[in-house]
Amino acid sequence: MSFSVVIVAAGGGTRAGPGLAKQWRALAGKPVLRWSVEALLSAGARQIVVVVSEDGEPLVDTALAGLTGWRTTRGGTIRADSVRNGLAALDGPPAEPVLVHDAARPFVTAAHVAALLKALDGADGAIPALPVADTLKREGEAGLTTTSRDGLWRAQTPQAFRRDRLLAAYAAWPLGEPTDDAQVVEADGGRVAIAPGDPLLMKLTFPEDFEMAERLAGAARITRTGQGFDAHRWGPGEAVWLCGVRIDHDQTLIGHSDADAGLHALTDAILGAIGEGDIGDHFPPTDPRWKGAASHLFLKHATGLVAARGGRLVNVDVTLICERPKIKPHRQAMRERLAEILELPLDRVSVKATTTEGMGFTGRGEGLAAQALATVETPS
Ligand code: MG
Repeated sequence: MSFSVVIVAAGGGTRAGPGLAKQWRALAGKPVLRWSVEALLSAGARQIVVVVSEDGEPLVDTALAGLTGWRTTRGGTIRADSVRNGLAALDGPPAEPVLVHDAARPFVTAAHVAALLKALDGADGAIPALPVADTLKREGEAGLTTTSRDGLWRAQTPQAFRRDRLLAAYAAWPLGEPTDDAQVVEADGGRVAIAPGDPLLMKLTFPEDFEMAERLAGAARITRTGQGFDAHRWGPGEAVWLCGVRIDHDQTLIGHSDADAGLHALTDAILGAIGEGDIGDHFPPTDPRWKGAASHLFLKHATGLVAARGGRLVNVDVTLICERPKIKPHRQAMRERLAEILELPLDRVSVKATTTEGMGFTGRGEGLAAQALATVETPS
């Protein structure tokens, strides 16, 4: 079933502590807003309108880089105005279902969406809701009293409506802030159905919510390993590039780019970890643009692909195989250069070296070889 989405991301979120508003903060390496947008796009959303404040405009392009099917509109002074603006920015059939979602609930899934759309059938609205499990207390002048939890539900988002029905309800809503969109439809005489809620639809409000969400997000992530190998032939020259460091030498490595076999092997390892082919697929040696290119560009491209899928590099390990030059005096500089390019702490970057005791092409001094391993963590 075709549906559209309004995501409200215009809030300041001051209760979550100082710094960026919560929708822009990183959760397991990915902005909170991006979690919802990716999930709702993969659930089949036809269009997503993200409602942002003026402060949010410069942040949203970065947060959602590489994704299509979304656009922004400006928020109002209260959430109800932001929802109104979001609804006005949608196009398509007036009775199409629209999901209104809080950016601060990152763990929405296609299953939540399917359950809501099913519950919306024959109702004016549908909300995910959980029965109240804890005993409820009210603090008053007489001290604590116990309140019955019978028939009480905790409403979550996304909430589903027919767009024209929600617009009509908002048109009839008096000024002021409803606590959710379903309240607006209820007040207009509409019937709101309940779909199964989910603790994972938790709203990130307080700093401790982020800690719990980090743990949940981390538990869902997978670890991948990739390996790479490269070799280049020695030729006349006066210096060689290895792991991003220029070393004075009586020969150089021959190649289309700067022939940095360490960086090439490492680039292939990272590409391998995410199933993105090899360095030749991305930077064909026949392409004149890469003639003499500094190989850190290749590496940056690979780490960019990891970031684009919400992943992060965990650690890398490079082995250089040659008789000469001696690598050890340059190892620390290589690690530091790699850590800089990869934006990793130094203890997650390893550079090792070995000879082949005079055997084979490296032993005979015909060429240098490099091997690399990369570990990457991704959402799936
Ligand atoms: Mg190479």
